[in-house]
Amino acid sequence: MRQERIDDVVVVGGGIIGCAIAREAARGGLRVRLLEKGAFGREASGAAAGLLSPQAEADRPDPLFRLCLASRDLFPEFARQVAEESGLDPAVSERGTLVVARRGTEAETLDQRAAFQRSFGLVAERLGGEALRLMEPALHPDWSEGLYLPRDRSVDNTLLVRGLELSAGRLGARLQDGARVLRLMVTNGRVVGVETAEERVRAGAVVIAAGAWSEEIAGPGVTPLPSHPVRGQIVCFGPTSVPVHPIFTHGFYLVPRRDGRVLAGSTMERSGFDKSVTGSGLAGLSTSALALVPALGRAPFHSAWAGLRPATPDELPAIGRARAPGLLYACGHLRNGILLAPVTARVVTSLLRDEDPGMDLSPFDPCRFLR
Ligand SMILES: Cc1cc2nc3c(=O)[nH]c(=O)nc-3n(C[C@H](O)[C@H](O)[C@H](O)COP(=O)(O)OP(=O)(O)OC[C@H]3O[C@@H](n4cnc5c(N)ncnc54)[C@H](O)[C@@H]3O)c2cc1C
Repeated sequence: MRQERIDDVVVVGGGIIGCAIAREAARGGLRVRLLEKGAFGREASGAAAGLLSPQAEADRPDPLFRLCLASRDLFPEFARQVAEESGLDPAVSERGTLVVARRGTEAETLDQRAAFQRSFGLVAERLGGEALRLMEPALHPDWSEGLYLPRDRSVDNTLLVRGLELSAGRLGARLQDGARVLRLMVTNGRVVGVETAEERVRAGAVVIAAGAWSEEIAGPGVTPLPSHPVRGQIVCFGPTSVPVHPIFTHGFYLVPRRDGRVLAGSTMERSGFDKSVTGSGLAGLSTSALALVPALGRAPFHSAWAGLRPATPDELPAIGRARAPGLLYACGHLRNGILLAPVTARVVTSLLRDEDPGMDLSPFDPCRFLR
């Protein structure tokens, strides 16, 4: 086995979280190595719908909501910088997001959500029939109640991850695909690097950003962080010109992309590491899509795919230091990993530089799962 130079940090996993951390740490002057077992951005980060929408389903001010809002605030500058560094525009849509409901109890939920969000200082515009129809003419008339969230955006996550990968490389991070990390290297209780089939990679710190696979990475005396995959299927239509905005209803969304595709998502399934698109997934998502925007029934079917969201036992992310010195986690972002990439990269880089992350990370402390 070859013996490598000692980097400041080795990041395990080249999804959006690992790529964003590698870029931010390299910008911060650290010597960074990023190891990806397959190809960059091909797992959950490539499968996502790209919603940057903390408000759409938020009814209370819990820690995850606050973290999502903090990351949403960082997103415009983050996307602008990545575009500048990489030359790739990640197609952030500034149109805002619509949450729609039918008359009755669903509409009352929207009233309560709007009231809570306004009391929290956020913009949430309650819309009735005619105003809603003017904004989104292709919406089925059954959906007569709306909430317009002008600050909830969307992004083409595949372009963003590719941009982050290019940007990290240009800023000096050394990126390697096809490099599966097998285990942690541990000396006197301290994590000092990782081992792949090809080499031992020594580093001042190791960040595990291996998504749904994070539980597979451990070392002598270092217990793994429990994590599991939650499958999400997406059906894609297009090219089509409707709808104009990302639209949410309870448990379902449509997301128009700049290139004319419309994504309909998504399922939440515990089915292990199986990334199949199923008959019931296709049927259920297509039915929901046409119930919202009937004109999609005339749009071409484009494609369908599934990805594995990374989840922890309490469904909150694990961001921060592990018990073993030299080891950090950035995983378990479940339904919000695209949105949470900027804030995760920023706080993890602060911890790597022994700086104050500037926010309370205790709800996301990985040690809540570690003995
Ligand atoms: C259908 C669907 C829709 C979604 N929609 C949204 C959305 O609209 N908005 C949003 O914010 N989020 C969304 N998400 C969630 C989001 O995609 C995830 O939270 C996010 O992509 C997680 O990023 P990650 O980098 O942690 O994981 P991943 O993208 O899965 O990356 C982890 C990487 O680690 C690599 N890896 C694993 N083990 C090893 C190893 N031993 N050695 C080296 N590399 C390893 C993997 O190959 C993988 O590339 C969605 C997810 C799905 C599936």
